[in-house]
Amino acid sequence: MAIVPAEHRISRDEMTQLQTHRLVRMAGYVYERVPHYRKALDEKGVRPQDIRSLDDLALLPFTSKKDIVAHYPYGLLAVPVADTVRVHSSSGTTGKPINVFYTRKDLADWIECVARSLRIAGVCSDDVCQIAFRYTLFTGAFGHHHGAESIGATVIPISAGQTERQLMTMQDLKTTVLHCTPSYAVIVAEKVAELGIPKDSLSLRLGIHGAEPMSDELRDETQERLGIRIARDYGLTELGGPGVSIECEDRCGYHINEDYFYPEVVDPESGKSLPDGELGELVFTALAKEASPLLRYRTRDLARLDRTPCSCGRTFARHGRILGRTDDMLIVGGVNFFPSQMESLLLVFEELAPHYVIRLSKKNRVDAVAVDVEVTPEFWAARSTETLESLRSTIQYKAKEAIGFRMEFNLLEPSSLARSEGKSKRVDDKR
Ligand code: ADP
Ligand code: ZN
Repeated sequence: MAIVPAEHRISRDEMTQLQTHRLVRMAGYVYERVPHYRKALDEKGVRPQDIRSLDDLALLPFTSKKDIVAHYPYGLLAVPVADTVRVHSSSGTTGKPINVFYTRKDLADWIECVARSLRIAGVCSDDVCQIAFRYTLFTGAFGHHHGAESIGATVIPISAGQTERQLMTMQDLKTTVLHCTPSYAVIVAEKVAELGIPKDSLSLRLGIHGAEPMSDELRDETQERLGIRIARDYGLTELGGPGVSIECEDRCGYHINEDYFYPEVVDPESGKSLPDGELGELVFTALAKEASPLLRYRTRDLARLDRTPCSCGRTFARHGRILGRTDDMLIVGGVNFFPSQMESLLLVFEELAPHYVIRLSKKNRVDAVAVDVEVTPEFWAARSTETLESLRSTIQYKAKEAIGFRMEFNLLEPSSLARSEGKSKRVDDKR
């Protein structure tokens, strides 16, 4: 097992001290510099000097995505634009994009957070890192690029797409770590199979995949197909991108860079703080940001917190797998379910490929769910009407058992659904 550096083994007391110091400073900082926060604190009758310990966090207001959108583009900026050196933004498919600004120090902190995350996942200075996130306004590519470079790894800034060339580069330069979204990792794995590239002609040993959910089943399948270990990483644009948390080799959850992002889990309905171990919405307070500080940011991501030390030796708090998003939850005929449950369900069938879309519609004013899913090329080649029908009815039965209502399943020929090199769109809600 790799040696765990001392800074990953900081005691709970020391961590609390550091977090408290940063929180107290941040409360004063945003009160001084961000009118939105000054107003919110004034409205609650809270003065910055009332924030003296981590327990006082509950006095501070939440920040929501709505608040960020309402202040687009510069409203929440805590420094003059002249003091910022970078801006990134998220897709903004539903309206205005989310912008995040960095001062020079914010950039340095970000790189430090991503570098630490990558080390936690097992990246080291000998690695050759192929960055197959898209180099755009999104945070993914730049975050991983600079994080890996700062560790001393060799960075290949290839971006996403052109998968055959990607694989040639991987072979020629002996890439050891592939950084990309889970959706793109699937495309790479399929291309390897399609071209008949032997796994041992690749030097790949590790995949770092994030920016969207990846079920355990899809992770296991992709690991097997590429002959690698996968560490899933988590982050969001609002908090600066990747570098919030990542899975260690022991796979006991995602270690949080909690000296930069103070984690809470709250009841999504009441906003009440929940004890460690209970499932709720992840909320982070950015403890050190200069340009785009955030108090108690409601991520809408559902997970559990665990502050006990990990078997890997690290003491950073962990959150479990993201089990869904409060705004992703589908309510069908009164039953709640998350798209991620569908992926876990489908991948139990080895005849199915990890390409699916959940389609929701209204039939006679009743919710109807149809799932389009591709079968594997092997199954398709050997198919008959009977095998297709028998597979379809088994899936239908299992889905009803697991999720609780009837759905239609359409088994599709390989490659019939659109592929995404970034994040995949899994739900088409036409209700
Ligand atoms: P958006 O998708 O809202 O445009 P981002 O591109 O910043 O914003 O994506 C952040 C979101 O992506 C997170 O809030 C989370 O829902 C999802 N995400 C990122 N990493 C993971 C992960 N490892 N597992 C599950 N979901 C993830
Ligand atoms: Zn660990």
